[in-house]
Amino acid sequence: MRKYAKYIRKATKLRAKNVRIIPANSIVTGEWVRLKCQFGCDGYGRTLTCPPYSPAPEQTRRMLTHYEYGLLVHGDEHADVSDIVSTLEREIFLDGYHKAFAMGAGPCDLCEKCPKFCKYPERARPSMEACGIDVFSTVRANGFPIEVLNTQTCNGNYYGVVLIE
Ligand code: SF4
Repeated sequence: MRKYAKYIRKATKLRAKNVRIIPANSIVTGEWVRLKCQFGCDGYGRTLTCPPYSPAPEQTRRMLTHYEYGLLVHGDEHADVSDIVSTLEREIFLDGYHKAFAMGAGPCDLCEKCPKFCKYPERARPSMEACGIDVFSTVRANGFPIEVLNTQTCNGNYYGVVLIE
């Protein structure tokens, strides 16, 4: 995995809290994740990176079978995980990993309001959860912390991933 070390260094430079190379088959999807987006999240349908526009869990599950490794990025309130993974996706792609694909955290916030067509297609990526990934199970399986936040003053843990090859 030495060939990926430069991406770990780059993510750290971009203020990621922790970064790890993970096997793509440790990424867990769940049909229920879509329902959590549809019922209970005020981002549903508001941005082009969220459901119903983002890939459904089944599509993500199939897509993941085409990858062996991903870079899992852990951030906190000081790190913009979505920005970190889209920056890394570009670098990894330009290094010759033609399938590189990033998924961030939360709804895209690059524009105040989403128009009909994306204004920044080179930067906007769906979140892991928007693609039906069970982020809790995935990060725990890879040794990272995550808990349900039960007050608004709790510090959150945010995660993104770049699928590499
Ligand atoms: S970059 Fe702008 S237009 Fe594109 S998904 Fe994000 S908010 Fe919407």
